[in-house]
Amino acid sequence: MDVTTMRAWRVTTPGPVDGAGTAPPLALSEAPVPVPAPGELLVRVEACGVCRTDLHVTEGDLSVHHDHVVPGHEVVGRIAGYGRAVSGWEQGERVGVAWLRSTCGRCRWCLRGTENLCPYARFTGWDGDGGYAEYVTVPADYAYRLPDDVPAVDLAPLLCAGIIGFRALRRAALPEGGRLGLYGFGGSAHLCAQVAIGEGATVHVLTREPAAQRLALALGAASAGGAYDAPPEPLDAAVLFAPVGDLVPVALRALDRGGILSIAGIHLSDVPPLTYESELFYEKEIRSVTANTRDDGRTFLALAARHGVRATTHPYPLDRAVEALRDLKAGRFDGAAVLVP
Ligand SMILES: [Zn+2]
Ligand SMILES: [Zn+2]
Repeated sequence: MDVTTMRAWRVTTPGPVDGAGTAPPLALSEAPVPVPAPGELLVRVEACGVCRTDLHVTEGDLSVHHDHVVPGHEVVGRIAGYGRAVSGWEQGERVGVAWLRSTCGRCRWCLRGTENLCPYARFTGWDGDGGYAEYVTVPADYAYRLPDDVPAVDLAPLLCAGIIGFRALRRAALPEGGRLGLYGFGGSAHLCAQVAIGEGATVHVLTREPAAQRLALALGAASAGGAYDAPPEPLDAAVLFAPVGDLVPVALRALDRGGILSIAGIHLSDVPPLTYESELFYEKEIRSVTANTRDDGRTFLALAARHGVRATTHPYPLDRAVEALRDLKAGRFDGAAVLVP
């Protein structure tokens, strides 16, 4: 490879992206192309999605794990080099780099197939440099193979919004052909809905936004109503995407006997007191969701390819990353922002 330097956005001093009169908390600079360590791939970035977590890292709500980290964990790119001890990957092959960068492989959670709970997990764009750059490295064991026939911009949001939404769907343990409720209908939920519908579920969307309700119906949802409305039939499972604790009892009441409510968000406002008889009895369950396993990622990406799952995207050139983060914070666009070097 003859290119030796690249442009990359690094977090300088975490703070508001929209602070008036202050320097933005991240800066674009020229830097050496990273050298892949043993077991790592070097990836030339084609597109990198802008996730709300990037905003949290940039603004300091999540304290940076290393100084001057490069944000971004929805990376689509092509293999441009290898470290030692990498096999089974081709130069130029398209790969995805997602939030989960590595796990220990030895703790009780890793050993029982729940590496998403590994206390020693490391994350892209937080512990390791991410994709707001022209090149990124990734441990080969944590890279995903991606199809060539879909634009990179369209694939990027699948790598976080898509995978995490799918983990939440799995946690809801929807029976085959079952009735699924989705509370809230943003980036993650609209990808989750496409997989569920593709797999034969009947999906009811409950959200306050009329535009989101229309999108839900256009994607094949059986019904779309207000977040506090009762769905037209009892639900076998539900996923709460809106970070609104008040919706927990609402969703529990909508569940049929044995139904499971999965809570997709990292944050949730306080849950009001629950009424045992109407909201928990008949073996209803509440489950939280933490990150994802590699199996979640691989399974989701295979289903997304099979069912032609598409994200609504909003591309920005790489040098407008600060603007993309500001627009995300202000809710200025529908769908997902994606940076393109
Ligand atoms: Zn994310
Ligand atoms: Zn572990």
